[in-house]
Amino acid sequence: MSSLWSTILKFPAQIKHFTVPVRNLNLLEYQSKHLLRKNGVAVQDFCMIDEKGGNEFNNFNVKEYVIKAQILAGGRGKGHFDNGFKGGVHVTDKRGDVEGIAKQMLGHKLITKQTPKDGIEVKKIMIAESVTIKRETYICILMDRQKNGPVLIASPAGGVDIEGVAEKTPHLIKTIPIDIFKGVTDGMAEEVAAFLEFQGQLKKLAADEIKKLWTFFLNVDATQVEINPLVETADNKVISVDAKINFDDNAQFRHKDIFALEDITESDPREVEASKYNLNYIGMTGNIGCLVNGAGLAMATMDIIKLHGGDPANFLDVGGSVKEEQVRAAFNILTSDKNVRCILVNVFGGIVNCATIANGIVGAMKSMKLDVPLIVRLEGTNATEARKIIKESGLNIQIAEHLDDAAKKAVKNVV
Ligand code: GDP
Ligand code: MG
Repeated sequence: MSSLWSTILKFPAQIKHFTVPVRNLNLLEYQSKHLLRKNGVAVQDFCMIDEKGGNEFNNFNVKEYVIKAQILAGGRGKGHFDNGFKGGVHVTDKRGDVEGIAKQMLGHKLITKQTPKDGIEVKKIMIAESVTIKRETYICILMDRQKNGPVLIASPAGGVDIEGVAEKTPHLIKTIPIDIFKGVTDGMAEEVAAFLEFQGQLKKLAADEIKKLWTFFLNVDATQVEINPLVETADNKVISVDAKINFDDNAQFRHKDIFALEDITESDPREVEASKYNLNYIGMTGNIGCLVNGAGLAMATMDIIKLHGGDPANFLDVGGSVKEEQVRAAFNILTSDKNVRCILVNVFGGIVNCATIANGIVGAMKSMKLDVPLIVRLEGTNATEARKIIKESGLNIQIAEHLDDAAKKAVKNVV
């Protein structure tokens, strides 16, 4: 899996979190390939081995095998493991070697350009029928904000270094807007197949695969279907060898079966916990924990903290109708981050009543031990009453007059 798109969008990771606060469903390669196959896209046959002892390999016999570590990140081929083993993708024609290679991967952390520094533990291995690759191309269909609709991105120079192609030889990448009403027409599919340098009979085959990928994109409400590489094989086939698919969260109700596939074991446990309480949480690297209502105010709060020389530990939007239970969950999540040295609550009571929030904070504080200073800024509906509740609680809470004051107080606690 590689993501050309993340290279094109050259934003630092944090800014990406700010602008895209949705939690896109991400699937492992084998899950994506099950779906692609169900939709008629040509993929290799494969079986799975997992760390729980699941082993389908005994009944899987082919001439040559490709053994692939399954993690939610790309760049596996060029990656390495924490045990020194090189490469998350291996090809062998010796059946006797397959399980040995899988063993070197299973339970070990794979480090690639796209993983965190320490890598991601491999819990599942795909063993697929290897294809003899003549050429590797790149194809991706995605929703594009600038074009206000889907686009098709193609390159005849696919494979493990597509990011380098985007950087050094951009003329080898073509972006074609797709008319949402007409879809990928025969003419467009053939034009793209030709740009991908498929010739003769293969051009027709490749065009068919491209059209199937488009139908798949529509059927599953994807926001991205990236195939890298889409290969031409020595026996004249066009096969999707690797796939990265993202889905539109808003269409979850239509695709309960697909969303049920989500594997949360690789996700940040704090983000998983937050989503249980309907909190929009994204962990970052600073030391001031933030609890804010509304995404815009959450971003403004982080900006003001930065302006005063501090560093936010997270983005946390508790939404418009926060309850005591959510405040407690939020405090628990914030303080589970060992970097957090103070918490700043910033709430603007528009629809929400500040007194309700104040009661929530006081209730939560009384039922848990908060070891870090708490600064609260409450403004808007019933703010005076809210401040009174906090003052009279006798709890060690610093009340801020306004947002600027709140940020200054927070920063003072951590310097
Ligand atoms: P990624 O590194 O995570 O993007 O994983 P890919 O599935 O894209 O595999 C990386 C590279 O391994 C591909 O670009 C191919 O060059 C090679 N590869 C993958 N599958 C096969 C296969 O079935 N046969 C052969 N010969 N090479 C493969
Ligand atoms: Mg790939």
